[in-house]
Amino acid sequence: MLDKILIANRGEIALRILRACKELGIKTVAAHSTVDRDLLHVRLADESVCIGPHQAGLSYLNIPAIISAAEITDAVAIHPGYGFLSENADFAEQVEKSGFTFIGPHPDTIRQMGDKVAAIKFMKQIGIPCVPGSNEPIGEDDPATLALARQIGYPVIIKAAGGGGGRGMRVVHTESHLINAITLTRSEAKAAFNNDKVYLEKYLQNPRHIEIQVLGDGQGNAIYLGERDCSIQRRHQKIIEEAPAPGISHKQREEIGELCAQACRDMKYRGAGTMEFLYEDGKFYFIEMNTRIQVEHPVTEMVTGIDLVKEQLYVASGKKLSLTQKDVRIVGHAIECRINAEDPRTFSPSPGTVSYFHAPGGPGIRVDSHIYGSYKVPPYYDSLIAKVIAHGETREIALARMRNALDETVIEGIRTNVPLHQDILRGNSFQKGLVNIHYLEKWMNM
Ligand code: ADP
Repeated sequence: MLDKILIANRGEIALRILRACKELGIKTVAAHSTVDRDLLHVRLADESVCIGPHQAGLSYLNIPAIISAAEITDAVAIHPGYGFLSENADFAEQVEKSGFTFIGPHPDTIRQMGDKVAAIKFMKQIGIPCVPGSNEPIGEDDPATLALARQIGYPVIIKAAGGGGGRGMRVVHTESHLINAITLTRSEAKAAFNNDKVYLEKYLQNPRHIEIQVLGDGQGNAIYLGERDCSIQRRHQKIIEEAPAPGISHKQREEIGELCAQACRDMKYRGAGTMEFLYEDGKFYFIEMNTRIQVEHPVTEMVTGIDLVKEQLYVASGKKLSLTQKDVRIVGHAIECRINAEDPRTFSPSPGTVSYFHAPGGPGIRVDSHIYGSYKVPPYYDSLIAKVIAHGETREIALARMRNALDETVIEGIRTNVPLHQDILRGNSFQKGLVNIHYLEKWMNM
């Protein structure tokens, strides 16, 4: 097993990683920015190193500073968490070249899956269904692009090959807007991701977002751990996730899951990953693969009883996957609400000091959070401050437990989106499990 790891992240995921390390007897180093000295995981880690000022570009994205921190503390591996450098192939490569283990897939895998066009090409060749589209980068003023869009039928969506975080996408409803949309998306993509490659897909009108959790050992063994429904989104950002996805049969899960596991065996996938799909009229359409642990991983952990972060650490230490597909059993239902420090109506960020925090509890409730009374939420980073997860024998029980948990949650001093979650949970369609990716935005505009 790894002896000591450096955690190159912050907030709840840094604490989550620290907890898994402590359970396994792995020593920890917290790499943090100047404003994050008082983060819970920094206080609890065996060692901590300040890697730079509050600006993420100078600290959490500062590759030389992170690698130096691992060197001076004698860490043997680096866990990137999610966001920041977690899907940066150059970072993974430099970590490995410097003699450390990168807790994640091989840099070449990250690079290939990070290019959405390359990822789609790979999946198609295995027989994974993808959204009808160009499957290739498109030119700006190319008659072939116009012809393809006409053949697929409007609306279509122009997407950046290097895009992420719900950015770099533009829906086109009519042919007269197509070329302009390509030009705009391309220049935005160049500025945001330093990659102006864009591609075209059919814009599905009412899909659900359903994703498959996978785990591989980098030695050709891989399994799937069921699916998550992440259709409750705002601006393509997930707010509530659940597992299993309402209405997905065991047979459907097995079919799509096995294809995903096969893809991972073929690419000798190492670690935890997620294959994201849109799901419409009973069919799955692959959109992208995330080569890291995801924010919503706890719902899968709750229904499978498998600790995904511990599995990441086992695999990174060179162990073969000890789990087989038969070991994965879905028991009950789990829901996660992302609690953000923001105004529940305007969504404007609400940083500041948490004057009082009371976390919910009771059967089936899990809270992953780094905040505590007197903790100061800095204005510089993502607004996620807590994840409340509810598990129950049925979806109804999980929902009832989540409602109780949200009612019990007290966070004072800053505004949070807890009231928004309480409202969503009261919604009829949500209760019936009948929502698609547009539900939340439509419902908020009513
Ligand atoms: P990102 O990497 O930025 O998260 P994704 O490709 O995963 O981008 O897409 C994010 C979200 O955008 C999806 O969950 C969905 O809501 C929407 N989306 C993406 N592609 C399509 C499409 N072809 N049709 C309809 N919605 C889409």
